[in-house]
Amino acid sequence: MERTRDLIIGAGVSGLAFADALGPEDYLIVEAEDEIGGYCRTVERDGFIWDYSGHFFHFRHPEIEKDLVDRMSGQVLRVQRDSRIWYGDQFIDYPFQKNIHQLPETEYEECVRGLEERTEARGESFKDMLYSRYGRGIADKFLLPYNEKLYATDLRRLDADAVGRFFPHASLAEILDRDDAARDEGYNATFTYPAGGAIQYVEALAQGVDRGRVCLGERLERVDLERKVATTNRRTIQYERLVSSAPLPRLLEMCGLAYDPSVLSHNKVLVFNLGFDSKGPRGVHWIYYPQRDLSFYRVGFYDNIFGSARMSLYVEIGLPRAVELDADDRGAMKARVLADLQACGVLDGQALVASHDVLLDPAYVHITTESEALAAEKKSLLADNDVHSIGRYGAWTYCSIEDNIVEARALAEALKSRS
Ligand SMILES: Cc1cc2nc3c(=O)[nH]c(=O)nc-3n(C[C@H](O)[C@H](O)[C@H](O)COP(=O)(O)OP(=O)(O)OC[C@H]3O[C@@H](n4cnc5c(N)ncnc54)[C@H](O)[C@@H]3O)c2cc1C
Repeated sequence: MERTRDLIIGAGVSGLAFADALGPEDYLIVEAEDEIGGYCRTVERDGFIWDYSGHFFHFRHPEIEKDLVDRMSGQVLRVQRDSRIWYGDQFIDYPFQKNIHQLPETEYEECVRGLEERTEARGESFKDMLYSRYGRGIADKFLLPYNEKLYATDLRRLDADAVGRFFPHASLAEILDRDDAARDEGYNATFTYPAGGAIQYVEALAQGVDRGRVCLGERLERVDLERKVATTNRRTIQYERLVSSAPLPRLLEMCGLAYDPSVLSHNKVLVFNLGFDSKGPRGVHWIYYPQRDLSFYRVGFYDNIFGSARMSLYVEIGLPRAVELDADDRGAMKARVLADLQACGVLDGQALVASHDVLLDPAYVHITTESEALAAEKKSLLADNDVHSIGRYGAWTYCSIEDNIVEARALAEALKSRS
């Protein structure tokens, strides 16, 4: 049997950041896919550069950003965000709740009336929070339908704080302020994007990793917690510590630990990356779509980030986890996406010349009081057995790649100081 001190599951941002922070220690990374990067992978096709889904970066720790950029040879673009909402037959600026003055006057008045008639939250769900904080007008026109499309679930199931710092909250004064110049731009007012796609940040992290210890195409299948033996599709490995970025429910199953699957629920996101022969709408980086009759909740424009001459889109569709799609279903969905892009004016005679699609499963976990308690309990039980479940899906949370790096580095430091 092979032996390693640290067995790392997954060569996404979390697994690589952990190995990078460990330094020249005794570790092995087992990655099910044939390449590194996890959800931060980039696809190049017919001159188009696409991520698995639009990945844009807004670092809160300048030292982490500097560390990555110092390791990169390619250019990193810094972009002033232009994000909009398609509403009726016009654009309004994002976030909706700070830009209601851009709505037609009667709709603006409905939003103000909704704010005046607000009542205390009757419950503590995400839906209750939207109504009690923003009123019926703003909730019904945008916040509710948009988030229902994204999370593909009843918003009464989610915690009021399910989106954490990623939700662009607005005070009453900010909502009623008609001065565009004074607008608070939120957590990603400017963002960075590597000219070669998100994978370049991953490759920067991977520079600190011994590639000879990264085993691609190898999948963890079973963990014997007592004997500290991991079984993959290729071999058995004796470990001292196991650090996993696989989705927490899957890890629990592999460890033979029972849990209630209805508590650890999530959506899936189907992404279509589409390349066209000529330019579409100019300037905008991504558009939000609250309309229930449009298949997608968001469409992003890589060509307006790169300044390129052919429209290059990512299109995101939220799906319940129970939905299964075969190749025919995906083909039908793609045809519907193209029709919907036409219906909302993104497509206007351009010809599709390249495409790619990927299903992110899980994509957004449904954060509830029960899911947080269950994840904390199981992670603590695993940690007692020297198994550490980290990353966006290992920790079962909503976070950015920077958060993944912070978490992985902190765990590496803690484990190093213990040994
Ligand atoms: C739609 C969407 C948009 C996003 N946009 C942004 C953004 O703009 N900016 C941002 O900072 N973040 C964004 N994120 C979040 C970002 O993608 C994640 O935080 C990050 O990629 C998570 O990295 P990870 O290593 O924790 O997990 P993953 O990327 O999921 O990596 C886990 C790895 O483990 C491997 N694995 C799983 N099971 C096994 C097994 N049994 N055996 C071996 N290997 C296994 C997987 O193949 C994978 O490579 C977005 C996420 C989504 C879903």
